[in-house]
Amino acid sequence: MYVLVINAGSSSLKYQLFDTTTNTVKAKGLCERIGIDGAITHKQLDKNIEYSAKIDMPNHSVATKCVVDALTSEAHGCIKSMDEISAVGHRIVHGGHYFSESVLLTEDVLAKLEKCRDLAPLHTGAHIQGIQGCLSVMPETPQVLVFDTAFHQTMPKEAYTYAIPYDVAEKYSVRRYGAHGTSHRYVAGEMIKLLGGKAEGTKIVTCHLGNGSSISAVKDGKVIDTSMGFTPLAGVIMGTRCGDIDPAVVPFLMDKLGLTPDEMNDYMNKKCGFLGVSGVSSDCRDLEAAIAEGNEHAKIAMAILGYQIKKYIGSYTAAMGGIDAIVFTAGIGENTASIRKMALEGMEYFGIEIDGELNERVKGRDGVTKLSTEASKVAVYMIPTNEELVIAQDTEAIVTALNK
Ligand code: ADP
Repeated sequence: MYVLVINAGSSSLKYQLFDTTTNTVKAKGLCERIGIDGAITHKQLDKNIEYSAKIDMPNHSVATKCVVDALTSEAHGCIKSMDEISAVGHRIVHGGHYFSESVLLTEDVLAKLEKCRDLAPLHTGAHIQGIQGCLSVMPETPQVLVFDTAFHQTMPKEAYTYAIPYDVAEKYSVRRYGAHGTSHRYVAGEMIKLLGGKAEGTKIVTCHLGNGSSISAVKDGKVIDTSMGFTPLAGVIMGTRCGDIDPAVVPFLMDKLGLTPDEMNDYMNKKCGFLGVSGVSSDCRDLEAAIAEGNEHAKIAMAILGYQIKKYIGSYTAAMGGIDAIVFTAGIGENTASIRKMALEGMEYFGIEIDGELNERVKGRDGVTKLSTEASKVAVYMIPTNEELVIAQDTEAIVTALNK
């Protein structure tokens, strides 16, 4: 079955066409500057043909039409007609407490998604536009929504409840939701296979470390805690996000810097993290280059992440009553050896021991790699994430069940 996986942002639309019988990507691409002017970059992977063009894209419907045109083009396409796309799978950032699994798009589902708008205004608005784009271009094709928050819905109350008045929390749906759930689910699933295939009894810490980072405790295949919170601002230090800070810092800085609530939110999301601490960049690779030139602030920025990951591993081990495996994934988790090293060094008393020389070499392109030594009681793996594959597989499963 061909499934079109769509990740719609406010002015962009990323897509991949999956063949779910072989789990391969046939084509992928990106529409950018939607609503501004518009451009598409498209890659047909079988024949390795690349195509890019500037096309006026006033909205997501036009962008979706451009995607379908690129996929069905004689020159650089891979299917003959739109009818070959059996279903569309959408990546949705926030499903609130409404969605604990992937669902088929219906009017009721769309109404519930509307209610999540407050929780992730920019993302949800863009997702809805992406969905409407598909409804207008391929109205007969089933659409499935896959939520970044869904995998975290198994958290117990004490892990997701904030210590604010209960009625206020309920009224405004303020609680921990987590993020990157599709990635945590994928790598936890792969890790469970490596541990023998039975979820029951497994205790895994999954570290998704990219521009945005989150860490989850996955016990018996289910999330029991995760580092991101009400929004993806919480948890560890990120590229430009501050992660957890004393909440009293917020009004204090608003006062000192003369910022409105919106400006403060923007500040914490875009001016902090690696960028704010280092003054150099939000990108780990730039920080490593700066450290090599003796930049102390870049060194502190990276050290904060290493230290915070270590603390999460420790606390989640306590929460799960033990630990069998640690997984590193996403841009930094897959590629940045110094962060993996800092996060795990000095944890031998936990039974964690990695092959330092191997760790230095391993990159995401190497594929799944065991980093722990034979003597280590805890398995440590680098597992490249594949959120699109999960979206394609969920979409296929839901659509197949529909046709039975
Ligand atoms: P996003 O959250 O935007 O998906 P990524 O998962 O692509 O982010 O992670 C980006 C981070 O990974 C950056 O800090 C980048 O420096 C770091 N990184 C380190 N090495 C690599 C690499 N070889 N390729 C991609 N990202 C890398």
